Amino acid sequence: MRACVDIGGTKVAVSLSASSDAPLVGRRSEPTAKTGDNDAVAVQILRMIDEVCAEQGIDPATIERVGVSSTGPFELHDGMVELATPNICGGIAGPARGLPNQWMTAIIEAPLARRFGQVRVENDAVAGLEAERHWGALKGFDHCAYATWSTGVGVGLCVDGRALRGKNGNAGHAGHSFVVDDASGALCGCGNLGDVEALVAGNSISRRFGQPAPDLFSAASAGEPHSLEIVDALCRVMGRMLYNMIITLDLQRISLGGSVFWHHRDFLLPRLQAQIDGKLMPLTRGVLLVPAGLGEKVGDYAALALLD
Ligand SMILES: [Zn+2]
Repeated sequence: MRACVDIGGTKVAVSLSASSDAPLVGRRSEPTAKTGDNDAVAVQILRMIDEVCAEQGIDPATIERVGVSSTGPFELHDGMVELATPNICGGIAGPARGLPNQWMTAIIEAPLARRFGQVRVENDAVAGLEAERHWGALKGFDHCAYATWSTGVGVGLCVDGRALRGKNGNAGHAGHSFVVDDASGALCGCGNLGDVEALVAGNSISRRFGQPAPDLFSAASAGEPHSLEIVDALCRVMGRMLYNMIITLDLQRISLGGSVFWHHRDFLLPRLQAQIDGKLMPLTRGVLLVPAGLGEKVGDYAALALLD
């Protein structure tokens, strides 16, 4: 048996699968642990795996492989992945960010590896990219990306048929690339002022505009002029980040997921595509932004894609 784990800034999900071609069963999801010691998320995952096994009548001892698709960035300590994630670890940006802990990292791989035979932890956008290339909207594309617009903003990149990983598995952290100068006052959980996440991520939208992203997007899609103006500005930042990826890496297609995007995809997609079309034509001609083929299940299949 395999356990598939999806760690986000907001939620942790666990499901099981008998093989890489078998369906996912017994999915459980709960808010990501953010209090207590910095092994709290690992302890939560171990408990959730046991609970899913109990529900499904599966002996937890039969689980040999665990795939973890997680929000980043990562730090390696003794070769084991720890999360240095701004939306989980409160010690990174300090008290201004308002998280209920002082963690600089959350340990993940070591506690799982002590119990299970094989554990593979990858950045969720890299794992999502692998899933979209296996089963989703990026099948057959050798130069592509998967981007998630959710609590945070992440990108997984593939060039010449090879997913890019980088020195600590952190390639694709374009969400922390700078957009405006420090005077914007927009604080990202990573400590940066004025990066993409600070301006457009789900958690930033709530803090900047005093309402959750779904409310803002609903008002905009209903034609409310002030909301529409804000959403157009958000799409300009997000769309330009995607444009930057396309022209830097000469990509063919980008598939998009994440809760902020997904629930208003029909409204947002043309606004994002408008930031690509007609610009530097030799590089952008025919390049399409598409909704993730796996839809809201990218996270679950992302973990499974790591266990091929
Ligand atoms: Zn940042």
